[in-house]
Amino acid sequence: MTESPAPAPAPGAPGATQTSELAFLKAYLAASDEVCPLCKYALQGLTSNACPECGKVLVLRVERKHPLRGAFIAGIVFISITIGSSALTLVLYSFNLVTMLITGQFPGDWQFELVFDLTLILELVVSLMILRWWIRNDGWIQRQTLFKRLRLAGRMALVPILGFALIIGLFILLT
Ligand SMILES: [Zn+2]
Repeated sequence: MTESPAPAPAPGAPGATQTSELAFLKAYLAASDEVCPLCKYALQGLTSNACPECGKVLVLRVERKHPLRGAFIAGIVFISITIGSSALTLVLYSFNLVTMLITGQFPGDWQFELVFDLTLILELVVSLMILRWWIRNDGWIQRQTLFKRLRLAGRMALVPILGFALIIGLFILLT
């Protein structure tokens, strides 16, 4: 049992599906010592499909014993490298901007800094959007074949490579 949005009801008999799901959930919780996955409140004798402590909607679900999450985790690592490196570079390069705000004088080439900082911000935004898409599609990724999961992870490995190539290329081009 895990926290998750309630699955779409079967067409034709949504009421019946929900009733039996709740009945299964109640029967399961009556016979086990499960706690709420969010707030750890003991759920024995629960009468609705929501945690009485935190209000989280609960569903009973069948899962693989060992979820196929290798590709998903690899993708998270690759995208985190990209986000971390572009954010760090941005912080390091905004040092000159901070100096300008304090002293009123910009040390160095402000046009280069502007292009460089805007590129880093763009890279950061795109990376965060990819991260959001990747997390939202966790279940879909697990359902793919081994070959497709490897291919998806390989594409995610390209994100930091392209990110670094962009930063280094821009640096060479502008300096
Ligand atoms: Zn709870």
